[in-house]
Amino acid sequence: MVSKIIMDKVLALEKLKQEMLDNKKLPLKTNLVFGEGSSDCQVLFIGEAPGAVEDQQVRPFVGRSGQLLRRCIRDLGWKEEEVYITNIVKRRPPENRDPLPQEIEAYKPYLTRQIEILHPKIIVTLGRFSMNYFLGREENKIKEILFSERATKICYAYFLPEAKITRDQGHLFLAGNLFVAPVFHPAAALRAPAMMEAFKKSFKNLPKILKKVDEMK
Ligand code: URA
Repeated sequence: MVSKIIMDKVLALEKLKQEMLDNKKLPLKTNLVFGEGSSDCQVLFIGEAPGAVEDQQVRPFVGRSGQLLRRCIRDLGWKEEEVYITNIVKRRPPENRDPLPQEIEAYKPYLTRQIEILHPKIIVTLGRFSMNYFLGREENKIKEILFSERATKICYAYFLPEAKITRDQGHLFLAGNLFVAPVFHPAAALRAPAMMEAFKKSFKNLPKILKKVDEMK
C-alpha cells in the first residue's frame, strides 16, 4: 500500500509542476521536462537542462547520454523507477546552448522546492553546471566528507568558487544541508574514453557514498 507520506509527495510534485506550467514569465518556451522517478527516492540525479530528445519526449535523460546514465543506474542494481532524475533548468535552451545565469536563477525556486519535497539522501550532480549550482554558491557552506582515496584534507569553505569537475567529481560534499556527489556529465563521458572511465568509477562508488551518508545520519 502506498503510504500517506508518499501520496503527499506525489501531490506536492504535481502541484509544483502545475505552478511551473502556469508561470508564463519563466524563460524558455519549449516543453516543461519536470523530472521523473520515485517521489520516495534516496538518490536524486540532477543534470543541466533537457536536450532535443528530452524536449520531444518530455522526459529527462532519454537521449544518448541519458541511455548511458540509465544503464549505469541499472548496473548498480538500482531501478530507474526507484531514483529520481531531473535538471536544473527544465526547458531546452535553443541549439542546446549552456543555460544562462538568469535562466538558472529563474528555475532555482522550483528546483529548491522539488528537492525539499523529494528529500533525497544524496544528490548526484551530472556535469559542471549542476556541480557548481550546489558547490559554487555563496549561500552554501561546503564541507568535503572524508572517505575517498583523496582523503587528505578537509575542505570547509563558504563556497567553492574554484570547484573543478575534474578534481571534485567522485567525492562527497555537504553543501548546506544537502549531501552532494558530483560526477561527470554522461555526455562528456561519451566524448572521451578517460572521462568514461572516471564516470564509471565514480558511479560504482555511489552505493558506498549512500551507505556513508546513512551512517552519518
Ligand atoms: N543533458 C542534461 O543535462 N539533461 C538532460 O535531460 C539531457 C541531457
